[in-house]
Amino acid sequence: MSELTELYDQVRVCEKCQLSQSRTLAVPGEGPEDARILFIGEAPGFHEDRQGRPFVGAAGQYLNELLAKIGLRREEVYIANVIKCRPPGNRDPLPDEIATCRPYLDRQIELIRPRLVVTLGRFSMERYFPGASISRIHGQPKRVGSIIYYPMFHPAAALHQPRWKTLLDEDFARIPGLLEQLEQIEEEEEQPRPPQAEQLSLF
Ligand code: URA
Repeated sequence: MSELTELYDQVRVCEKCQLSQSRTLAVPGEGPEDARILFIGEAPGFHEDRQGRPFVGAAGQYLNELLAKIGLRREEVYIANVIKCRPPGNRDPLPDEIATCRPYLDRQIELIRPRLVVTLGRFSMERYFPGASISRIHGQPKRVGSIIYYPMFHPAAALHQPRWKTLLDEDFARIPGLLEQLEQIEEEEEQPRPPQAEQLSLF
């Protein structure tokens, strides 16, 4: 059993917060264990809670369409959420629920080691862009080392707000370009570095 599968088993029986009392099924996340792209949503909704899988309702349908438009299949990417259990009535996750669930997402990311992390909505954005406003920073990638973090609106919000839908479509369309950039970064990383003396003589 892989470490990620073990993690799923822990999530499925987790009782660390009150959401375990009201959930039907926990939703650990899904996708290839070595996915290059990780999407992080907010929390399971009604359908996700019933099926134990992320993004299978209306927002998921839309996410699948967005992926298809840029030539990606859902099976190629990893999809996770900030919290693994549905908040009653789909209310916003509470700070203590996010904090309690955080080690699961931390470990997931450590194991998957994605190169492009796409945050969907403000709760996952907060993890990498603390205090930022999503209307201001959506569509602006941030490179940290060899990883690109890319904040976007949440597909569910975009479904309710036509203006955000246009912005989400545009931001999504930039993903292929970011993947090309990542390839360049990887190539640079593979190149042997010149000896230090040569590096110095460049300046
Ligand atoms: N919205 C989310 O943020 N995550 C899901 O899994 C489904 C809807």
